[in-house]
Amino acid sequence: MAQDGQRVAIVTGAARGIGAATARRLAADGMAVAVIDLDEAACGGTVDAITAAGGRALAVGADVSKADQVEAAVGKVAGSLGPPAVLVNNAGIIRDNLLFKMTEDDWDAVLGVHLRGAFLMSRAAQKHMVDQGHGRIVNLSSSSALGNRGQVNYSAAKAGMQGFTKTLAIELGRFGITANAVAPGFIVTDMTAATAARVGMGFEEFQQAAATQIPVRRVGQAEDVAHVISFLCGEGAGFVSGQVIYVAGGPLC
Ligand code: NAP
Repeated sequence: MAQDGQRVAIVTGAARGIGAATARRLAADGMAVAVIDLDEAACGGTVDAITAAGGRALAVGADVSKADQVEAAVGKVAGSLGPPAVLVNNAGIIRDNLLFKMTEDDWDAVLGVHLRGAFLMSRAAQKHMVDQGHGRIVNLSSSSALGNRGQVNYSAAKAGMQGFTKTLAIELGRFGITANAVAPGFIVTDMTAATAARVGMGFEEFQQAAATQIPVRRVGQAEDVAHVISFLCGEGAGFVSGQVIYVAGGPLC
């Protein structure tokens, strides 16, 4: 915990999309937030939004798939804001293709950011949580963990995030640390806009088509996911661990 008693949170991939909404939400919940993304300058919008609302935030540039950058980033957060107690492993990329056209680079890049990135960030952050006897780790999985055409790399990574989360929960529980996964369905971000472009549809048309398949008859917004992450990161969620919560407007099977 920081000197003033404020919890410190790290959100990766927080320059935009779900990560940015989550960073803003955790700051509104009262946490100091480290906004990590590939390009430090790109974090400025999220940091400015938090500080304009009266919160504390720090922009940190790091590639979560690189161990040296991760160690430096977590050290910078601990030195500037205080030791992190909350980690949201949100950074992500897609490199979609059917199996027979998928390159090894596309496989390695996606597994590298999602799984290796979550591993490196969690390993670096957990020691600060153990020292505090308190921690909250939330990993971004996806409805694609259940299988999705054209995403053999991404679905493997997102299913892997679920097993990773459950093992973190088992190993770290005795230190007051919980680990949970949030698995969004269709959320309006640059990532789903890129998917619309890949399949040759306008983004509006793509969203409308997706909404017809979702029980609540709408697509999700980044704030829908941030709301659930906020709950899991809260002080009161200490008896919820190793869970996967689908945030998809309906049940998935
Ligand atoms: P997004 O808008 O594409 O944002 C992802 C962010 O992660 C970007 O700012 C990106 O930076 C950053 N990033 C990528 N690689 C990184 C790396 N190696 N190190 C640090 N940051 C990196 O994506 P989103 O839709 O908000 O998705 C956020 C998370 O939710 C991802 O894990 C995604 O898989 C998951 N998710 C999304 C949906 C959805 O429908 N949108 C559904 C299920 C799960 P750059 O801009 O520099 O690339």
